[in-house]
Amino acid sequence: MESQVLVIGHKNPDTDSICSCIVMAKLAEHYGVNAKPARLGNINKETEYVFKHLNIEEPELIEKVDEGQKLILVDHNEKAQSVEGRDKAKIMAVIDHHRIADFETTEPLYYLAKPYGCTSTILFEEYKKAGLEIDKVYGTLMLSAIISDTLLMKSPTCTENDVKAIHELEKITGLKADEYGLEMLKAGTDLSTYSSQEVINLDAKEFEKNGKKIIISQVNTADIDDVFSRREELEFAIEKEISDKKVDLFIFVITDIINTNSKIIALGNEKALVEKAFNNKLDEFDSMMLNGVVSRKKQIAPPLLDVID
Ligand code: MN
Ligand code: MN
Repeated sequence: MESQVLVIGHKNPDTDSICSCIVMAKLAEHYGVNAKPARLGNINKETEYVFKHLNIEEPELIEKVDEGQKLILVDHNEKAQSVEGRDKAKIMAVIDHHRIADFETTEPLYYLAKPYGCTSTILFEEYKKAGLEIDKVYGTLMLSAIISDTLLMKSPTCTENDVKAIHELEKITGLKADEYGLEMLKAGTDLSTYSSQEVINLDAKEFEKNGKKIIISQVNTADIDDVFSRREELEFAIEKEISDKKVDLFIFVITDIINTNSKIIALGNEKALVEKAFNNKLDEFDSMMLNGVVSRKKQIAPPLLDVID
């Protein structure tokens, strides 16, 4: 039998990484590939809401891959965000909507990157091209991913293609994006059961540039002050992460999904980079308010990576 291809999203998976790996696996099957979705970490509460709503199983957890394992990457391409063992795996395809960084293969591959708000929007269009029917379950997976990544179309990363996909998927699923989406996003803001160490790792992404290691971690909330009230214990957890993982800069982003603002806490030897990137001073709590900023990918990582040169 032809060897199985694993379809994976990034570490600390978000709703797009989880939903898109399932959606992509079905598209790959349609093209005759023996594909299986897998995840690189626990699902968050927002994604849990989606799976409870659909009453389906989450993808299998994997921690590393063996040499020669065939992979399809969705929702990422950077090495630091991918599976352990990827260097010796065989990447067959990438479907992504992020910057392309440190990506190199020895053999040709399919690489589909679009500057859309969500991987699932790219896949939605690929299903249509392939003439593959989108049922309610797959439609809900796509819709959930797009709502999550675009913060219900409020993020500056949201494109016309994302909006169009959401409206078509509303018809397919019978769901109202505003109602279902708000409930889903709200489910993801419940941090009460997590330890500080868990909170700072829920949606953490690692970036490397010029030998500097940066982690940008983000949580969604309906009340910034509520999360900020845990500042002392969060700082303690961040400092531990910085020394354990030899991080130069750790930025913890608390994003208000209702008012579309973020407050950041920046720690580490290179925290001055944040002041340079956003042309503002960190206050006595090592924090800074970023008005109108909600997107790590478009509004936080680029100015920061720019000042590292
Ligand atoms: Mn993602
Ligand atoms: Mn995404």
